[in-house]
Order: sequence, then structure tokens, then C-alpha cells
Amino acid sequence: MISTVVGSYPPLKQNPSNLKNKILNMMGLYDCYKIAIEHVVTKQITAGIDIISDGQVRDNMVKITANKIFGYEFEGNISKINSKLRSKSSVPDTGDLKYAINVMNRKFDELNLSKKERKKKGIKGLITGPNTMIHSSTIENKVYKRKEDAILDLSEVLIAEARSLEIEGVKMIQIDEPFLSTGLVDMEIAKESINLISKSVNVPLALHCCGDISNVLKNLIDFNVDILDFEFAGSKNNLNVIKDYSDDLNKIGLGCIDTKNQKVESINEITTIIEEGINILGSENLYIDPDCGMRILPDEIAFSKLKNMVDAMKSIKS
Ligand SMILES: [Zn+2]
Repeated sequence: MISTVVGSYPPLKQNPSNLKNKILNMMGLYDCYKIAIEHVVTKQITAGIDIISDGQVRDNMVKITANKIFGYEFEGNISKINSKLRSKSSVPDTGDLKYAINVMNRKFDELNLSKKERKKKGIKGLITGPNTMIHSSTIENKVYKRKEDAILDLSEVLIAEARSLEIEGVKMIQIDEPFLSTGLVDMEIAKESINLISKSVNVPLALHCCGDISNVLKNLIDFNVDILDFEFAGSKNNLNVIKDYSDDLNKIGLGCIDTKNQKVESINEITTIIEEGINILGSENLYIDPDCGMRILPDEIAFSKLKNMVDAMKSIKS
């Protein structure tokens, strides 16, 4: 089994403390998010996570993707599409990922990890999916007649994003689509839009979907992705749902800590969910991760939850 995260982590913001950063700040060049990324990477590696993320510390999941795309504007947290969507750059910005990879490699050196140990580890690239991006935005001035047209257009834009993540050397790419379980999304368009991205990259592709999957799993099993990632701690019935489709499922991201709840689950509680996952799909088909992003949790609780999750996974292996 491999441990991973869904993506976001509590962003630690710090004012510049040393002289170099104070000078950079005076010049308007201090980037407080670099410290946040360093913190996220360190915490995830210390907790024992195999495939980490850069923590999506810079903004919420919609803004962080929209900021790289022409056609989006924001009023507070409300996103609007006011022109046809296209990349801001022919080479999408991967600065945060690059920085996280540097920190990760430095941590691996400090830990004296062997080549074999490093092989299992790495970082994932995160993309907020086209269906969630469009369904959480308003389309102004009939720029697109139908939401579905905007979704497919955005998929084409996100292909460049996915390829740039792959070039940076990510171990896998995850598309986050919390909207897929809401019943608001046309699942045929969703499939077409996700498949457009998946056929454009070679690294394993995961699709993360939040909440109760009982109405959508029958559709999701036909998507061309390597891993379907769901929550099982906050939505325990999802275990029964995947049982019904176990013959059709490939690999599963087994969310086994509740990211909406600040209670730190015991190792025993987490082990119970992992063992149920193993009984249904076999350990070789599981990625062990939290239910969802951890952005809204207090920092220490996020870390304790991750640590117990990794300890639970290891207790089963030994
Ligand atoms: Zn989620």
C-alpha cells in the first residue's frame, strides 16, 4: 500500500523574520507562501506520507487553477467567466510544485533515504477539474451558451497544465472534482472532459470525488482513470457501494480519516477502514489517504491525523 494526501494542507503564513526576507519584503519580493510550502512538505514527510503534495497553500482550489487561465475574474470568492478560456502562458507556471520538489529532495537527503526507499516516494500534481471549475462559476454575457461547452474548452486548457506537471516529474496527477457527486453535473460530459486530460499524460491519473458516491459510481467506473479517490471515514456507506462494483474497479484512493472533523481518529479506527478496503479490493489496489483536502483543519490536528493514518497502514503491513 502507498500513502498519500488528497492535496490541500493548512497554510502557514509567516511575516519575514530574518534580514534577507525583511529586505525582500521591502522590495515587494517576499513570498510568504514559500515558507508555507516548506512547512507542508516537511510535515507530510515527517508523518511518513509516500506521495506528498505542495499543499495548495496559495489559494482555494478554484482560484489556484483559475489564476493561470485567461477568462476568469473574481469578486471576493465568486468566480466569473468573462471571455473564452485559454492558458495565460504556453508553459503553465509550476513554481510551487518545483519549490516543493526541491524541499522534498532536501528532506530525503537529510533522512539518508536509500534509492529503494525514494523510489516509492514522490509528489503528486493537483488540478481542479473542469466540471467543478465551471459549475462553481457564473458565465457572463453568454460567453459560452452552455456550461458543457465551457467544460470541454477548459479541459483543453488543463491538458497543458497536466503536461507541465508531468514534465516536472510528478509521480501521479490528481484531478479534483467535488461536484461530481452533487447530481448537478452531466456525467457524459464529465467523462469526456476527464478522458481528454487522461489521454494526454502518461503518469497515473487519479480522480478525486467528494461525498456519497452511491449515485455516481456506476458512471465513474467508465472514466479512463487509473485511480478513483473517495472518502470512506466521513461517508462509511461508500464501502458498501464499492463492494457492489469491486469487479469493475481498478485502484482506489481509500480516504480513511475524516477531514471535516477535528477529532483525531485512533489507529484502531483507521485500521478498521483500511482492512475493509483490503477485503474488498486487495492491498495492492489501495492508496491510503485522507477523505479530502485538509486546508480547514488546525495545523497540529492535520499532522496528528496523517501520522495516525500512516501508523495504521504500517501496523497492517507488519
Ligand atoms: Zn473531497
